[in-house]
Amino acid sequence: MNTIEVCRDLMINQASFLDLTRTNELSIPERFSFKTAAGISLSVIDTGVVLIEPADNMSSESSIIISSGVHGNETAPIEIVDQMVKDIVLGRQTVKNRTLVIIGNPVSMNMSQRFKEENLNRLFNGTHKNSDSYESKRAADLERYVEQFFSEEPKSVSRRYHYDLHTAIRKSMHRKFTIYPYPDGRDWSQEQLAFFLSSDINTILLGHQPSGTFSYYTSHQFKADAFTVELGRVKGFGENDMSEFVAIDTNLRALIAGTKISTKPFKNSDFNLFQVQAELVKKDQEKFRLHIADDVKNFTEFSTGYQLTDDSDGGYTVQEDGEAIVFPNAKVPVGQRAGLVVKRTQI
Ligand SMILES: [Zn+2]
Repeated sequence: MNTIEVCRDLMINQASFLDLTRTNELSIPERFSFKTAAGISLSVIDTGVVLIEPADNMSSESSIIISSGVHGNETAPIEIVDQMVKDIVLGRQTVKNRTLVIIGNPVSMNMSQRFKEENLNRLFNGTHKNSDSYESKRAADLERYVEQFFSEEPKSVSRRYHYDLHTAIRKSMHRKFTIYPYPDGRDWSQEQLAFFLSSDINTILLGHQPSGTFSYYTSHQFKADAFTVELGRVKGFGENDMSEFVAIDTNLRALIAGTKISTKPFKNSDFNLFQVQAELVKKDQEKFRLHIADDVKNFTEFSTGYQLTDDSDGGYTVQEDGEAIVFPNAKVPVGQRAGLVVKRTQI
């Protein structure tokens, strides 16, 4: 419906990446680019996808992806990236490193829902080939844009980062936390953990196996330092207390601007580090029961012997004190994960 002139006006004159994305949920009429007064180049590649290149792009030291709205109702991250792009367009944010900013699921964002047909954050690393939904097409498109972003990077780039920003459905014992995707045998990055501590996030869940998440995709395929970052609770647009996100927002902006981020040397004792003890995969629609209250918080701990689930294989019994549950969701289809059991660890 929108002409390209309307799109350009929304992005350039209104400086609203969010409104542009909202009013063009499926696609934009055509790609378009423009430069700011500071010589920063912005290219809208697709709806919800903008490539930002500094005036001196050939001396970028990092390639940075900041994604939001992979779950459409997680509005706080969308507002964070929208404001970042706005400040870049208006000349209020310095850019020294090439950056790809993404609003992941515009259609479900407009529906105020987590997804339209299926969970986008299970469809990366090629899993999208197994289905024909809106989200599987979007996952394939996002993979293509990410691949292009990394393949076009100048020789000066020595670091790749991807921060996929989310908010969680339920409350958490640790309000903000990061999921560190399975590193395929690489070391856990103490430098990146220090980045999160400095960003007011000291709880880290260490991934235990490959997955279909966006952050595992960029970690696995492109060796990026990639993370799923959970910033608090799901709320509607305009209902988020943006002051809660100042620390991570400030650090992400410093990364884009190429300025120093002050961090403390890594110490295990500064963190709540968790590893996965078990995946609660639903085996049987009739027999499956999850024995927790509806409002149980993420990282709630249980005692040895507690029968956490019933299922056709006998379910899961807590093996040792302190095992905790994350992302419980009894309503998933058979074969999918109804929750993760985690326990404390050190690196
Ligand atoms: Zn999410």
